[in-house]
Amino acid sequence: MTTAQSEHSQIILATDAGGTMTDAFAVSQDGSFSIGKALTNKVNEAISYANGYENAAANWGMSLEELHAKSIANIYTGTLFLNTLLERKGLSVGLITTKGQESMYIHERGHSWLGLEWEEVLHHKLHHHTGGDMFRLRAALVRGVAERVASGGYFMLTEPGQVKAPLNEAETRDAVNALLDEGVAAIAVVLLFSYLNPAHERRVREIAQDVMRERGVTVPVILSSEIAPVMKEVQRMKSVLMEAAGGPIVREMLRKVEQAANERAYRGELATMASYGSIVNIRHPRMYETILSGPTGGLIGAKTIGEILGERNILTADIGGTSFDVGMIQDHHISLRKEPDFAGHRLALQMVALDSIGAGAGSEVRVDPKFKHITLGPESAGSDVGKCLRHPRVTVSDCNVVLGFLDPDNFLGGDVTLDREAAIRAVREDIAEPLGLGVEEAAQGVLEVLNANLNHHLLTMLKARGANPTEWTMFMFGGAGPLHLYGIDVPFQKVYTFPFAAAFSAFGVACAEYAKRFHQGASYIIPPGADRDVKASIAKAMGDAYSALRDQGVRELNSEGQLATKEVLYGASMRYVGVLEVLDVTFTFGAVMTPEDLDRAIAEFEENYAKIYGKGAALPESGFFVNELFVHVVADKPKPRFVRYELADPRPAESARKGERQAYFAGTWQTTQVYDMDGLVAGNVVRGPAIIEHPMTTLVVPPGAEARFDEHRFIEYRAAAG
Ligand code: AMP
Ligand code: MG
Repeated sequence: MTTAQSEHSQIILATDAGGTMTDAFAVSQDGSFSIGKALTNKVNEAISYANGYENAAANWGMSLEELHAKSIANIYTGTLFLNTLLERKGLSVGLITTKGQESMYIHERGHSWLGLEWEEVLHHKLHHHTGGDMFRLRAALVRGVAERVASGGYFMLTEPGQVKAPLNEAETRDAVNALLDEGVAAIAVVLLFSYLNPAHERRVREIAQDVMRERGVTVPVILSSEIAPVMKEVQRMKSVLMEAAGGPIVREMLRKVEQAANERAYRGELATMASYGSIVNIRHPRMYETILSGPTGGLIGAKTIGEILGERNILTADIGGTSFDVGMIQDHHISLRKEPDFAGHRLALQMVALDSIGAGAGSEVRVDPKFKHITLGPESAGSDVGKCLRHPRVTVSDCNVVLGFLDPDNFLGGDVTLDREAAIRAVREDIAEPLGLGVEEAAQGVLEVLNANLNHHLLTMLKARGANPTEWTMFMFGGAGPLHLYGIDVPFQKVYTFPFAAAFSAFGVACAEYAKRFHQGASYIIPPGADRDVKASIAKAMGDAYSALRDQGVRELNSEGQLATKEVLYGASMRYVGVLEVLDVTFTFGAVMTPEDLDRAIAEFEENYAKIYGKGAALPESGFFVNELFVHVVADKPKPRFVRYELADPRPAESARKGERQAYFAGTWQTTQVYDMDGLVAGNVVRGPAIIEHPMTTLVVPPGAEARFDEHRFIEYRAAAG
């Protein structure tokens, strides 16, 4: 809501800088908020950052400086990291790895099909590896060095981390020289089992630094044992390559944004968001963890609101110009993926689970005149919108303009004027005539295809988890979410959208925790019937590792200005020896330090295992294996407040009405009331046919449907009965 009168203080700024739009969200101590949008300036995001907040500040009758002077937190997220890599604009990276593993970036555990459709997998594309493409790796940029650290394991009578073959230092010097000769801008080091013993990786860095000193050059050297010290070398390697190729570029852009904020009277440091849903300072040493920073916010925002509404199971649906992203919150928990496949690569990174398809308001419409067939996307007009603005091909947005849903004079609050005549011409010539349909019929047909795609994607997500939609509530957001909400016919228990739908991810970012998360590969076997001495020595080793990770977290938080540690969570990835299924268990009692703690850890593992796989699946007689430790350190951070309003009369005030226009519903043009979303208050109920306009989004309410503004001004949407 934009309340120009009230005194705004202790403001939290949260930004979602997408490839097309930068969404700026400002929330004040009293719970009121203001949002701004600007086209993302890809050369210098500091400019679009300032534009977005100028917009948001103006809603509150403030200058950009006043807004910044009153802000106490500033979190900037986006898709720069991902886009840098997808567009092959990362730094040129050289890779040093254990001899014999030089082709790992190509064979990658057979994962070269990740992210491809079945047709593509079956097709010869199978032989086009995702491999080093994104990092522009090629054989000359990958050097093997002889060395070997042993992995422990129940089948090997070796101490985990023991050096079996020393590092060949002469070979290492040659490798560094060769990579520098190739002109690399960063060196990534990924040696086998370095998560159990980092000595060789550290020695490689020393040698590299010596060589660089002699040559008078410096490039960063990034070690897997510091960035992602976990088992599975392919995931570890991809993570390090991402850090090396994209990290410095992203960090530099974030510093520019921070500088822009500081120059406008913001006194703190800038933060961003890690893919597991925690806020981190932009000085965070593992930048690759922020690869999915923006969209993560959507899930956190939904979880926060879900707690207020008492909704346990929420499906989040974000429709923007380009993509449709669906996430799930089950029993108030956001699903995380441990080894997500991301842009065709498997990563060692906890990441919120989101499933995307290329369908949005900017999706291009293609028509096959022979088979009378309409297909959409994945190509999108992005910020070019459609033929109604400056895109060369007809899009879904053109259809929305034709049918009266999108007001050509309200796009981005009127900053951009769309051309309705051009949209009508485009739909007639490119869709209606080839199909032999009327213009309205054709536009409606396109929206029906889009709706079918959205419904199919939602149902697939639910079915994959055996979830019954009637036990789930859907939150719909993104600039185009409210515009297409009416098309969803999955029988959800309830459906909500929000006045800040167009900046929902940014809103969610403002709700997140400031936290650090660490995963450390390990190799502890607890044999069946282990005696107290064995348990004591394992507990001691685990306790030492936990303390070190916690201290690292506290140290990083302190160095980033977050002094008060609020909570520390400890857990482990465990399995029964001989069973491949690994389970992550967060312990209820804290860290494992003593043999008694270890017994408790095992009991909690078994309890969780039985819950998921059934009691009969337990295999305690073969012993237990701990293969990863994790620690989550949370610091205090201010959170947005939610205001509860008195419920007003269901009938919207006359002042909230903008007028009426013709819109096309179920085959006929109908006189449709148009409302100003900012003028609608808690308690109001808007009955269709109606269109509720916000400067950045549009909520379509067909005949028979209604939009109810609840006590928090969240909007519950009810479809027409029957
Ligand atoms: P997003 O990518 O989340 O910013 O969503 C952008 C989409 O929101 C556009 O492609 C439009 O279809 C839709 N939209 C609906 N109403 C508006 C509006 N008033 N201004 C801008 N975009 C709008
Ligand atoms: Mg968006």
